[in-house]
Amino acid sequence: MDISENIQKYKEELPENVTLVAISKTKPVSELMEAYNAGQRIFGENKVQEMESKWQEMPKDVQWHMVGHVQRNKVKYMAPFVSLIHAVDSPRLLKEINKQAKKVDRTIDCLLQIKIAEEDTKFGLSEADAKELLASEAFQNFGNVSVVGLMGMATFTDDEAQVRREFKNLNRIYDDFSKTHKNFSILSMGMSSDYTIAIEEGSNMVRIGSAIFGERNYN
Ligand SMILES: *Cc1c(COP(=O)(O)O)cnc(C)c1O
Repeated sequence: MDISENIQKYKEELPENVTLVAISKTKPVSELMEAYNAGQRIFGENKVQEMESKWQEMPKDVQWHMVGHVQRNKVKYMAPFVSLIHAVDSPRLLKEINKQAKKVDRTIDCLLQIKIAEEDTKFGLSEADAKELLASEAFQNFGNVSVVGLMGMATFTDDEAQVRREFKNLNRIYDDFSKTHKNFSILSMGMSSDYTIAIEEGSNMVRIGSAIFGERNYN
């Protein structure tokens, strides 16, 4: 795997409005630095502690995205530095992010994770639950979080038509919510295996791991 070449390839290939998040979970800092030296500044991790230790070691102009499921008791460790939390899937998690952001005098950008996969998945809000959250009084009073868009993961399948249908559905929800939430600007969908379909269906942020850094040994 030539990480630097892969970063170059995506820079050339991705449309200008699409942001690349390099998903570096399980990979050593030396490999993240190869991507950094090729110009990559946005990295995504799925474990808070791993992200925190990489944040300490890496240059300070890196933007750290948390893309995985977050336990509420871990929020405090990333509140000082995280730049985007992709997978907010409950009002209680959002409340905790608001609380910890307030303590460090920040406003943290978040995305709501919407359950779009037709297969049974553990995490994510239904469209109705997300709508209810955004309309809730508690949400209106959160001064230290900013929900700037949506994130979703398609079913892991070879059936392209199904993947496309799921992304299309998320894009529809995004468009609908954007009418009332004027600060929506990010639709995070697409990974190594399905990002081209995701972009065709309206994604403006792709999360690519193994196609940049190689296969992971564990998750
Ligand atoms: C691991 C992960 C990715 C990247 O997956 P690849 O298939 O390696 O590109 C994207 N999004 C989330 C939420 C992940 O956990």
